[in-house]
Amino acid sequence: MDASSMASRLVTDLHPDLQPLAHAFVRQCADAGVDVLIYCTWRSGAEQDALYAQGRSKPGPRVTNARAGQSAHNFTIQGKAASRAFDAVPMVGGKPQWDARHAHWQVMGRIGEGLGLNWYGNPKAKFREFPHFELAKGWQ
Ligand SMILES: [Zn+2]
Repeated sequence: MDASSMASRLVTDLHPDLQPLAHAFVRQCADAGVDVLIYCTWRSGAEQDALYAQGRSKPGPRVTNARAGQSAHNFTIQGKAASRAFDAVPMVGGKPQWDARHAHWQVMGRIGEGLGLNWYGNPKAKFREFPHFELAKGWQ
């Protein structure tokens, strides 16, 4: 994808280390009775800046503390999308369950952390963002 593209939900736009973990995550959640949708993998710098503006210079809740290039979602390898994070939401009856009190979030979090991912829904996360699962290794 090029820098002007919309956000991706393709697992193939994840970092090569994260792709097998994303597949394992979806499979293990399904085994636990939780249907998950990975709704964002890679984001362009332009889209990251648009998201950063939300809740600051534009209306809406703040959803990120990262500007273009600062988010794990913006990571590239040799110019190719290689996001170091994905965002996922539990689905019930085909509908996303955004309410963080829904019990399925805790199941997802446990499974993601069991795979060695950093889950930003964890109470210890510096910026809580329940859908966000990120490769644990340093990247900058
Ligand atoms: Zn995210």
